[in-house]
Formats: sequence, C-alpha cells, structure tokens
Amino acid sequence: MKKGFTLIELMIVVVIIGILAAIAIPKFEDVSASAEKSACRSNQRLVVEGLNVYFAENGEYPILNRAVWVDYYLDGYVAQGMVCQAGNGRYAFMVTKSWRNGLYQICSWAAQQDCWPLHGYIWNSRFYWDQ
Ligand SMILES: [Zn+2]
Repeated sequence: MKKGFTLIELMIVVVIIGILAAIAIPKFEDVSASAEKSACRSNQRLVVEGLNVYFAENGEYPILNRAVWVDYYLDGYVAQGMVCQAGNGRYAFMVTKSWRNGLYQICSWAAQQDCWPLHGYIWNSRFYWDQ
C-alpha cells in the first residue's frame, strides 16, 4: 500500500503548476494592458465629445491654440479627475483652427510619458501612435 506522494510525484506537480503559471501570467498582463489602453482611448473620446457639446452649447470652444487641462476647461462636460491608468496622467486637450480651411482641429491626450507611446493620442477623431 502506497501512502501519500513520492518526491518525484510532488516535483512533477510543481513543474506542471510552474508551466501553467508561465502560460497564464503573461496572458493576464496582456489583458490588463489592452484594457488600460481601451480605457484611455475611451477617455480621449470623452474629451473630444465634451468639447463638441461645449461648442454646441456655446458656439465656440473653451480656448483656442493652447494646450490645457481638461479638469479646468471642461468642467461640467467631462468627469472630473479622469486619468490615464499608465502613471495617472491627467488629460489635456488643444483646439486649433486651420488657417487654410477654417476647420477646427482637436487633439486630446494624457500628459504622462507612459501614455503616449502605449495608448497614443486622438487628433481629429483619429488615434495616432497606435501599436
Ligand atoms: Zn493613456
């Protein structure tokens, strides 16, 4: 009659658990990185939508030709304290008016070094620095 596990059996179990963890843990990291990116892009879209609502209500944008914080200039149009999860970067935006065709150009991003290369920024309804 055999009782319990032999050392070899225990070692095999430990190795199998190690292999499973090695497969599963990087997958979890992938998922959280892509969820973070999606959340950031959703935030960038919200900034642009907030600006468009502001324009619809006021007939103008809150400020032109200057990069500014969302919290201050879009109070009441987007949620306060919105941050990119990559380093808690606050969101900023800039609206410019093209001298060529008179169209407004809207840029939104999180002012944090980890955000731009990982999540990109939105400019005229398109995402840039996409990976
Ligand atoms: Zn981001």
